[in-house]
Amino acid sequence: MEERLTCIGIESTAHTFGISVVKHPPFEALCDVRRVYRPSSGGIHPSEAAKHHLQNASNALQEVLSKISVEDIDLVSFSRGPGLGPCLRVGAALARMIAIKLGKPLVGVNHAAAHVEIARALTKAANPIVLYVSGGNTQVIHPSEGRYVVLGETEDIAVGNLIDAFARKADLGFPGGPRVMELASKSSRLIRLPYSVKGMNVSFSGMLTMLESLVGKEPVEDLCFSLQETAFSMLIEVSERAMAMLGLNEFIIAGGVGANRRLREMAGEMCRERKAVFLDYPVEYYADNGVMIAWEGIVQYRLGESLNVEESVVKPRWRLSDVKAPPPGLYSN
Ligand code: AMP
Ligand code: MG
Repeated sequence: MEERLTCIGIESTAHTFGISVVKHPPFEALCDVRRVYRPSSGGIHPSEAAKHHLQNASNALQEVLSKISVEDIDLVSFSRGPGLGPCLRVGAALARMIAIKLGKPLVGVNHAAAHVEIARALTKAANPIVLYVSGGNTQVIHPSEGRYVVLGETEDIAVGNLIDAFARKADLGFPGGPRVMELASKSSRLIRLPYSVKGMNVSFSGMLTMLESLVGKEPVEDLCFSLQETAFSMLIEVSERAMAMLGLNEFIIAGGVGANRRLREMAGEMCRERKAVFLDYPVEYYADNGVMIAWEGIVQYRLGESLNVEESVVKPRWRLSDVKAPPPGLYSN
C-alpha cells in the first residue's frame, strides 16, 4: 500500500476559487471550500474574476485552516493551467506561499486531468471512456498507458460555451447551464437544429448561430430543450463510438456540464443499451472544485512530479495530451 499523503489543493482557473484538503489512502476529502465569482453582466471578465479570487483567498484559507491542522499537510498543489492567466496567478501565488511557509513540495496540476482523475477516483472506474465537458472544453478521452489519448473533440466552441453564449443572448444570466436545464424541463417540443458530428469530433457554432437567431421568435423553453437534446445527443453519439471502437464498457463524464441531469440520463440510456455501465458520482464534483486539485496533486506527486517555486509559472494553454496519466491501480482503495 502507498504511503498516506495529505494534500492541500487550490483551484482558480476561471469562475471558482476553491481550496480543499484530501487524504489518501483511503480517499477522503477533509474539507472543500468554494467561492464562486458571478459576473455583474456578460461572461467572465478575467481581471474581475482574478480580483474576486484575490479578495476571497484569505477568508477561504482561514476557513480551511479552521477545519484541519497544518502539521498534517504533506504537499501543496494548484491548478497550473489551462485557464485564465490572471486567475491562475492568484492560486499559484497562494500555493507557493503555503509551500514555502510549510517547507512542503509544490505540485502544479493540469485542470482537465484533475476533472478526469476525480471522476475516476469517485467511481473507481478501471478503464473508462471519459467525456470531458466544461465551459472551455469538449473532449472524448481515453486514459491509457501513462497518457491521455484525446479521441475526439470540438472543432470550434465547447458545449459549455454554447450553453453560456445562448443563455447570454436569451438573458438567462451566467452561468447558463442550470437555468437552461430548468427551462428545458418545461418543454418537449424539438426544434430542428444543426447536428454536426464528424467521426468522433463535434461542432457547435452552427447550432449557436441558429439558436441566437431564434431568440425572441420561439419560446425560450423550446430553445433550451432543443439545445440540450441536440447537443447532448451529439456528445453521447461520439462517446458511444469511442467505446465501440476500443471495446470498452465503462463510461464517465467529467466537467461542469456533467451537472446536467438530462446529459447523465442520456449517458445511462446509451450504456444500458450496449450493456455497458455509466458510472455517476455526486453532482457537486462535476463543477470546478479544490478537491480535484488536491487529489490530482497526490496522483502527480506519486508519479514523481513536483516543482521548484522559481519554475512554477502558470501555463494558461497546457494541453491534456502533455500530461502523465496514472495507472488504474490507484483507485482500488
Ligand atoms: P466548469 O468550468 O468545469 O466548472 O464548467 C462550467 C460550465 O458548466 C459552464 O459552461 C456552465 O454553464 C456549465 N454548467 C453548469 N451546470 C450545468 C447544468 N446543470 N447543465 C448544463 N451545463 C451546466
Ligand atoms: Mg473546469
